[in-house]
Amino acid sequence: MTLEQIKNDEKEYMVQAYGRFNTALVKGKNATAWDAEGKEYIDFTSGIGVNCLGYCDEGWTKAVSAQAATLQHISNLYYSPLQTEVAKKLCALSGMDKVFLCNSGAEANECAIKIARKYSFDKYGQGRQKIITLENSFHGRTVTTLAATGQDVFHNFFFPFTEGFDYAKANDIDDVKSKLTEDVCAVFIELIQGEGGVMPLDKDFVTQLQNLCKEKDILFMIDEVQTGISRTGSFYCYQGYGLEPDVVTSAKGLGGGLPMGACLCAKNTSGVIVPGTHGTTFGGNPVACAGAAEVLSRVAEPEFLKAVNEKGDYIRAALKNMPNVKEVRGQGLMIGIVTEKDNAKQVAAQCIEKGLLILTAKTLLRLLPPLTISYEEIDKGLSILKTVMEA
Ligand SMILES: *Cc1c(COP(=O)(O)O)cnc(C)c1O
Repeated sequence: MTLEQIKNDEKEYMVQAYGRFNTALVKGKNATAWDAEGKEYIDFTSGIGVNCLGYCDEGWTKAVSAQAATLQHISNLYYSPLQTEVAKKLCALSGMDKVFLCNSGAEANECAIKIARKYSFDKYGQGRQKIITLENSFHGRTVTTLAATGQDVFHNFFFPFTEGFDYAKANDIDDVKSKLTEDVCAVFIELIQGEGGVMPLDKDFVTQLQNLCKEKDILFMIDEVQTGISRTGSFYCYQGYGLEPDVVTSAKGLGGGLPMGACLCAKNTSGVIVPGTHGTTFGGNPVACAGAAEVLSRVAEPEFLKAVNEKGDYIRAALKNMPNVKEVRGQGLMIGIVTEKDNAKQVAAQCIEKGLLILTAKTLLRLLPPLTISYEEIDKGLSILKTVMEA
């Protein structure tokens, strides 16, 4: 099939939810992808931070295909040794107490929101239901996680949105303080706002915020959907910040390319969900768990994390010497680039033509390469980016 045929069918048969770039990808290996017409691309996107081990990693492919050929799905009415393996690994790597497995970031966040409200309901009764998120945040596309998202552009069309969210200014502790009223049960934040433009929060701010929450028995919850699974150079970003959250949400890189999410609970929140209060058909699916188990056995190894940080530093250093680069932000292999010409969308489109896949976030360029990307792939990608930036 040619690209034109694929595009025609997409237009005719698919809900037009996406503005897509002009390519159809059909094959990949590590950080290199090929389109329907055989053209090669360096991939600095990992499918938006998903393919943490790159395309078709040998160990991951083996684990997933073996599981597909053994037992592809069971319901959550039965025990599953793969679910317990993933949960045990997640707890060991995060220091959290227990895990709920689901299928996406939005679902993990829905679970966190339900836990926050029930935690407070169980302890204080009705009326303490408000959740404070931050301006410029992103928490998902369901009606409730859109409400949690602190950006007005997302609060349109789908009225009425779920009530009980308020938005505080990032890195402004006084603004948060003024919003921590009697009816607040949780604060929910990203440590580096991803979709919001790779905006890191100050360590002082989040530490103060955590202390305020502990004082008032308000749950301190962190959305690690984009920052987690070693993306920012520690297994979870909060570990690099030295924080102790009550709830953590995870997805994107967790399954290494299969739909997988998790809501992680500390001791104080791990008993909130009881039978009948939450559930999912697909959550903890054995094939997705086999992928996640492989991811978790690899990405938190000290050598692996060291390599993520070194590659991140290497890319950042190269970017700082590139024309049209005004500022480089982020941590590990989560990188945001402010361009002098304020032309990120245009740069991304031109990169595609020249064989490089990159992302944007707001007005920034954003790089989320596979954590396993090779230096050869990095150099190839950077040289394409440089050509486009020079133009
Ligand atoms: C991507 C993302 C989500 C939503 O995840 P989905 O899997 O698309 O539902 C939520 N929070 C953050 C921080 C994200 O980056």
